[in-house]
Amino acid sequence: MLRAIVYIVVSIFLITLLRGIIGIITKGVGQLFEGETNTAATKPGSAPQGGFGGELMKCSVCGTFASPVASLTLQRDGNTYHFCSQGCRAKFT
Ligand SMILES: [Zn+2]
Repeated sequence: MLRAIVYIVVSIFLITLLRGIIGIITKGVGQLFEGETNTAATKPGSAPQGGFGGELMKCSVCGTFASPVASLTLQRDGNTYHFCSQGCRAKFT
């Protein structure tokens, strides 16, 4: 008889504990997802300002947009010309 009561008490305790753990996990997962969506939302927003979106250089020969790091530049008559490749720069000069 006493054993049965102990079993019931233990099972109730375990269920309460499990519920608490599941609650914490669900909350944690939710926060994780929220954090991921937050970082995912800030990443594309900050990337164009960081120097990729607005700072793309248009090739003066073929009109292809290239990143400033990869593009070639030529100074002529006080103007700066950008080229997507050496071939385009050769065509320009
Ligand atoms: Zn080009």
